[in-house]
Amino acid sequence: MKVPVWNPAVEFLEREALERLQLANLRKTVAWALKTPFYRRRLAEVGLHRPEDIASLRDLRDIPYTTKEDLRESYPRGLLAVDLEQVVRLHTSSGTTGMPTVIHHTQADLDAWTELVARCIVATGASRRDVFQNMTNYGLFTGGLGLHYGAERVGMLVIPASSGNTSRQVQLMRHFQTSVVHATPSYLLHLHSALMDEDTDTSPPSLRKAFIGAEPHSEETRRKIETLFEIEAYNSYGLSEMNGPGVAFECLYKTGLHLWEDAYLLEVIDPDSLRPCAEEETGEIVLTTLQRQATPLLRYRTRDLSHLVGGHCPCGRSHRRLARIKGRSDDMLIVNGVNVFPSQIEEALMKAPEVGTNYLIQVEKRGALDRLAVKTEVHAALFAGDARVLSDLRERIAERIRAAVLVKPSIELHEPGSLPVSEGKARRVLDLRPAF
Ligand code: AMP
Ligand code: ZN
Repeated sequence: MKVPVWNPAVEFLEREALERLQLANLRKTVAWALKTPFYRRRLAEVGLHRPEDIASLRDLRDIPYTTKEDLRESYPRGLLAVDLEQVVRLHTSSGTTGMPTVIHHTQADLDAWTELVARCIVATGASRRDVFQNMTNYGLFTGGLGLHYGAERVGMLVIPASSGNTSRQVQLMRHFQTSVVHATPSYLLHLHSALMDEDTDTSPPSLRKAFIGAEPHSEETRRKIETLFEIEAYNSYGLSEMNGPGVAFECLYKTGLHLWEDAYLLEVIDPDSLRPCAEEETGEIVLTTLQRQATPLLRYRTRDLSHLVGGHCPCGRSHRRLARIKGRSDDMLIVNGVNVFPSQIEEALMKAPEVGTNYLIQVEKRGALDRLAVKTEVHAALFAGDARVLSDLRERIAERIRAAVLVKPSIELHEPGSLPVSEGKARRVLDLRPAF
């Protein structure tokens, strides 16, 4: 099989040369980082004052980790390494209010990101001859614009459909012979049931590939998508802190996700002891940006759990592979591709004076999609009055949570003392979705 490739000079770079490039880029990144108030302080604490203090890649280990909390505390500009005039765009993390995490980009940052996404697209065998329908949200969420610019760079015909509106998605696919789509796996399964409800009973014959990501899913889910649509589906991994999509992607061989190591320095660590994991040993992915000027991040703890795949991929790329993401080392939920922290729901819930202290967050599958439900106890007096008062309150709470986490839950109101009280540590989250 001829291996399609976007940038052979970098994608097949020998290990030694790749590591030399990483070291040079790490020094540049430390130089950028030292321009930010946050890292100047953080790096001074470990005696790192100049990029030349980094003598080898091993010195990375002396650099402290960066966490999501650090990003939140540096909001909005504590991590900005360039003059504001050089910044051309910003993205914030999905589903957060109050103190989101923000990533600024220069034009060079956006160009570098676009290059990475172009590599991913071409690695799957997609090309300028394809019609690409991007079914993920265009906006602060990075899946829309991220894939969009990469696909344009490749020269595909791009349909910026954005997310939702299933009947229009189907219409666009049929009218313009869409051959490649990008969506969350749960949305593609939902789309398939919508297609089956149509009289035509077939998926658009032009479709041949899907890029699926933004949420955890199993090999079985991938196979299901492939069988139902009679297409090939490729796993796409990324996070807004590392630009978004384009961090790691499967190639034609689907033997794991190649992570672009000229752009990201990869570590896998034990989330508790913080010691480095061996190949094939599951741990938390830690990433350092190697090309980003406006918001350099050093040793960012992604909280995503995976392991390094050993051996070589038949495609010949030298960039190492991650196994599909197995879960998270924190309590973040991903609901239809949107990141939701239980603490944000609690905060929104507790703003309603009628609400008591006991509540339960439940996530389950309804058809192909995730459904978020919040059960909460409210003052007893409310149940004695008009039923409309309760339905108004339900709507008010649902709206408030939607505003906070971007997902609208269904709300169940309960009398005080009727929700289960767990002994010891309260169990507030019940994830009833099948294990993946
Ligand atoms: P966001 O910053 O909103 O793009 O969300 C990024 C998070 O989504 C990651 O940290 C992962 O937890 C999750 N995620 C993204 N892509 C995948 C994927 N292919 N498989 C599993 N989880 C993913
Ligand atoms: Zn490969």
